[in-house]
Amino acid sequence: MKIFFKILMKIVCIFLLTTQALCNNIYKEEFEYLKNCDPYKKLFSEDLNPTLRDIQSEVLNFKNLTSSQKSMYTMLLDFGSILVTPENMPQLHRVIDAMSKDAEIVTPAVFITIPKWSFGAMVTNFFTNPGIIVVGQKLLLETTDAELEAVVAHEIGHMKYNHVYKKTALYAGLCGLCGVSGLLLGYLNIKFFANLTEYHPALLITLGVAEGAVILAPAISYLAPWLINKKMEDAANEFADKILNKGDGLKSFFETQQNRDFKEDSDFYQTYALIKKSKDMLSPSDYTDLLTRYKKAEFLHKTKRTESDLNPHTICS
Ligand SMILES: [Zn+2]
Repeated sequence: MKIFFKILMKIVCIFLLTTQALCNNIYKEEFEYLKNCDPYKKLFSEDLNPTLRDIQSEVLNFKNLTSSQKSMYTMLLDFGSILVTPENMPQLHRVIDAMSKDAEIVTPAVFITIPKWSFGAMVTNFFTNPGIIVVGQKLLLETTDAELEAVVAHEIGHMKYNHVYKKTALYAGLCGLCGVSGLLLGYLNIKFFANLTEYHPALLITLGVAEGAVILAPAISYLAPWLINKKMEDAANEFADKILNKGDGLKSFFETQQNRDFKEDSDFYQTYALIKKSKDMLSPSDYTDLLTRYKKAEFLHKTKRTESDLNPHTICS
């Protein structure tokens, strides 16, 4: 009886997976069915121990990964994720494969996170061949097929332009700048300040420049990646639009993203109003505690919001 039931479930799952093409939101439904079929079903159980979830997802994913992908997976994805394959999400895999061919890159490994928390995506091909794209489950569930394709196309753009290597080189250069300016300042202080009673103008200028570099280095370290990041995000968007023809999906994705931001703003207003309205029902210490926690959350939200307002076309989390 048990075997019969298992076979029946298998047939139902195969039938559901092969009839996705008839539905709207194909990828979302493909994923929803995957979540309810063996061997993936257990991974989405809330009762499963997180370490066991991680181990089980590695067992399922590793057979399809290269050794460099496995190393990167272990570093980045220890919360559990599902690798998109021709068997478990055939429609999405087919589109990813086609876009990769158009972009003239080797088809990357695309993962959907098991936790729902991320409405974003990320990419790496840093010493990883082929590269890896990670899509937050929340993003997959809250976007249309065209928007999801545009997000993956954007990440393929980053891969095509080797943005991860360029960004790493920039960070390394900036760290070097901070280190060298610090060392220079220390050297000049030891060499000249200790024994001099009169300062030569050239020495003062040199010290001024070195100190300026030390002061400016953190500001440059912050601003340069931000500026370069904006440039890379724009380039990846352009690639998705012009080369992979996902301009409509991109436009729609940014509208969805903006609506989410407005919704979050409104949740903040509503929570603040609730605390204020409930002041008389709360003890003074509870009221102060809740208001303080709200203000901290609001500060973090506003910082994030300012960043997204300054660079509204960012996809990568
Ligand atoms: Zn990006």
